[in-house]
Amino acid sequence: MKSLQDRLVVVGEPLATLEEFFPGEGTFEKDGVIYSSTIGRVFIDKHKRELGVLSAKTLLVPKPGFRVIGMVTGFSSHYANVEIFCMNGVKLDHEYTGVIGRDSLGRAHPRFRKGSLRMYVSENDIVYGSIISTVNAILLDISYREYGVVKAHCKLCGNTLILSGRDLFCSICRTRERRKVSIFYGEPVEKLVRRI
Ligand SMILES: [Zn+2]
Repeated sequence: MKSLQDRLVVVGEPLATLEEFFPGEGTFEKDGVIYSSTIGRVFIDKHKRELGVLSAKTLLVPKPGFRVIGMVTGFSSHYANVEIFCMNGVKLDHEYTGVIGRDSLGRAHPRFRKGSLRMYVSENDIVYGSIISTVNAILLDISYREYGVVKAHCKLCGNTLILSGRDLFCSICRTRERRKVSIFYGEPVEKLVRRI
């Protein structure tokens, strides 16, 4: 499934069978096989078990399941705001504002549910996540191992923090900070963009 996700396809390309997926937008089905009806990238919605092909234009409009990279710009009472500058591996001309909120960290982080959001992300952090919902705001999921902070700076001196055990560490001030880090922490953002 991993090799199929994000694959660039042309019209009429056979992609999968009906046993594997339901046909989504940008596809048609014939004799139990799902074909692409447009040029674009394969997009798999795991929850719906749906396979679609999204044209370049469609890929730039936020939608649940899309993977994004952005920067934390500040906090409001219940949310951290994230300026999204990359979606599905495409750099955006016009940034979208997403939010990290109560539902972004899932059940694995009970302390967060009591509202201590700043224990997990901080201003100017670069975060990688996926869109949960676009109903009231672009709500991001950062609960999975792949998701979370991928780059952070020291609050005292601005130096880039390095991962040291479960903490982030400043080699200049020797201070430690905590975040909800991604397994890709420290990977250059340019490389991460190609990964998503
Ligand atoms: Zn420092």
